[in-house]
Amino acid sequence: MKVYNLACALDHRFEGWFSSEKDFFTQQAEGHLCCPICDNAEVQRLPSAPHIGGKATPDHIERAPASAEPAQTIALSNADHGQLEKQIQATFMKAMRELVHKSEDVGSSFAEEARKIHYKESPERSIRGQTSADEVSALREEGIDVLALPEIPLLKNTLQ
Ligand SMILES: [Zn+2]
Repeated sequence: MKVYNLACALDHRFEGWFSSEKDFFTQQAEGHLCCPICDNAEVQRLPSAPHIGGKATPDHIERAPASAEPAQTIALSNADHGQLEKQIQATFMKAMRELVHKSEDVGSSFAEEARKIHYKESPERSIRGQTSADEVSALREEGIDVLALPEIPLLKNTLQ
């Protein structure tokens, strides 16, 4: 089983599991690979060596912590893996859509409104809007639970 880092045309990063390198090329050539986030079928394999691409991340080191406990492992067939991915994607998209529909759009006053709710100056409810990454960190430091949504074209479509 080979695990490759993949990216779609919109640069969403995800992992793909293949029985062999040939299996990857076959699935890619036949258009069976698609992005679990946006369904884009233009999937490319990312170079696995950390020095290529200029972004040396210790991800793979952190992902395998030394542990005396035997890890629970499961080996999925390609068909099962494909089905699992589809289910995860469907569940994720459904949950995201529900969250977006339930929340009130407060636009650019998101950070301000999130604080008001946190400090009980505004009625408690789910809100959505735009704010900077810095504001998101600041809000989290204040103990305000915010979720940064990925840019998902499908979500935008449902909001029209
Ligand atoms: Zn994508």
